[in-house]
Amino acid sequence: MITGVFFHEVFSQEDWIIIGNKFRNFPQVMEHALKLPNVKLFTPQKVSEKLLLKIHSERLVNDLKEAWYYEGASYTIGGCVEAVEKILSGEIDNALVFAVAAGHHAGRSSAWGGTYASCTGPAISNARQRFGQTRFAILDTDCHHGDGTRDIFFNDDNVLHVCFCGWNRVEGDGSKVCVDVGWKTTDEEYMNKIRQEFISRIREFKPKMILHNLGHDTCQEDYGDRGLTPDFFPQLAKEIKQCADEVCQGRYLIVTHGGARADVAEYIFPKIIEILAEE
Ligand SMILES: [Zn+2]
Ligand SMILES: [Zn+2]
Repeated sequence: MITGVFFHEVFSQEDWIIIGNKFRNFPQVMEHALKLPNVKLFTPQKVSEKLLLKIHSERLVNDLKEAWYYEGASYTIGGCVEAVEKILSGEIDNALVFAVAAGHHAGRSSAWGGTYASCTGPAISNARQRFGQTRFAILDTDCHHGDGTRDIFFNDDNVLHVCFCGWNRVEGDGSKVCVDVGWKTTDEEYMNKIRQEFISRIREFKPKMILHNLGHDTCQEDYGDRGLTPDFFPQLAKEIKQCADEVCQGRYLIVTHGGARADVAEYIFPKIIEILAEE
């Protein structure tokens, strides 16, 4: 069993929009976790412009290329693309991909909120090209609605998108779901909603793998504070890993998302690597 960790040194060198410089002490703070025998650190490559253009409009891609955060976004998406490919080919079992400037607020032709291109769109598009039409589940536990991801996969019945945000609604054929977690919740209440609204659905949907946008902006005293404690996030990873073991042979990818508290990032991500690497 091998866990991949995808991190590029530029992630620790900038003050990123919304999330700030929360990765300033990475990868050093993961040193212990990275030394585990079945954990492998990968330096991501930049995503190709051709792949970006399969998901995004030419205008969005051109604007992105001129922005100062293009390099960070490009390495982030490249890491997601490679991680999904390696999980599906069996080279690794699961992975944690670090993300800056790319993520769930990037739709086909517009993007905002600190994420200026999609991670899941190019990764799934590339995977299907290589491994055929497959079903994916995207779990979004960032504080905010994953509007960009929803836009990209809205008409794709082979992608289950369950987003924990501020609305209760089911769209399309039932594969596009939002769950209202409440303005203030607890670790226990949130986890119960994960079981009821995500784990129950995934057992029926039977995806080939789970992609998880794991934001920690929902943590107490962060900008999306929903009342969760730092310990919630490793617990959540553990719960979803067990679900992936049951439903899709353990194929599980975590992509970091919102959250600006560096102390929380430094606390949870080494723990999450250890959980992913547990036999
Ligand atoms: Zn957020
Ligand atoms: Zn939502």
